[in-house]
Amino acid sequence: MDREELRRRLEFYRDLGMGGLYVASGTGHGEAAVAPPEAVKRAPKPEAAAKPGAIPESQPAPAVLPMALPPLEPAGDTLPAILTDIGECTRCRLHQGRHKLVFGSGNEAAKLVFVGEGPGADEDEQGLPFVGRAGQLLTQMIDNTARKEGIPISRPDVYICNVVKCRPPENRTPLPDEMEICGQFLARQLAAIRPKAICALGSTAAKALLNTKDGVTKLRGKWHKWREIPLMVTYHPSYLLRPYNQEAKKEAWEDLKKVLHYVYD
Ligand code: SF4
Repeated sequence: MDREELRRRLEFYRDLGMGGLYVASGTGHGEAAVAPPEAVKRAPKPEAAAKPGAIPESQPAPAVLPMALPPLEPAGDTLPAILTDIGECTRCRLHQGRHKLVFGSGNEAAKLVFVGEGPGADEDEQGLPFVGRAGQLLTQMIDNTARKEGIPISRPDVYICNVVKCRPPENRTPLPDEMEICGQFLARQLAAIRPKAICALGSTAAKALLNTKDGVTKLRGKWHKWREIPLMVTYHPSYLLRPYNQEAKKEAWEDLKKVLHYVYD
């Protein structure tokens, strides 16, 4: 692991709220020690290599490297534990305009998780995801499709959350660094629930989960994977609310039928 990778990983774990790391000394197989929390905060920046006493770039990486970094998803992780770790989060700039943090809602043991982009005004007000007009459409889509297809579920049976937990100003698209920081909590949520399938609503969710630049039109209707979990991309309900998107509405219903049959048949 080079110095830049080490720095990125330390910052990554710091943003998860982890204060200490096990590090190996000498060969990397010796005794482990718990580094103080400051070790994370003081992760060296690449330019530090030029300072006196720092190891020149030309030399191999130092022997003191993380031996057992905390897992991305701590063992036995749960949604309440993740919510506790988020706390009164100020890890990215989106906290500045937030009224309520929107963590997620629904069945914590759901077989199906929907992931949207971020809270809007209604969600920010109530602290719940998908409660505005787009949320009402999503509820109708889930409930009506399930009923028509003879699948005995409704919205409370699934889990719904977003890539970012705080409302972006003027409902703008979350920026890449905001998605990366808050996406760590999304990853923990998905890993804690371990649903049978995930449905990404819109291109922001698709980008966050599939690390792709492709748009929804290209991605939708096909199965992808987030880690080992099948993932379907479809349109965000707010896009479907626009009157000229009738064709997209039909396609979204088809996508949802596919997902519901896969998960609940
Ligand atoms: S969007 Fe996420 S990372 Fe940013 S402040 Fe809100 S909870 Fe924290």
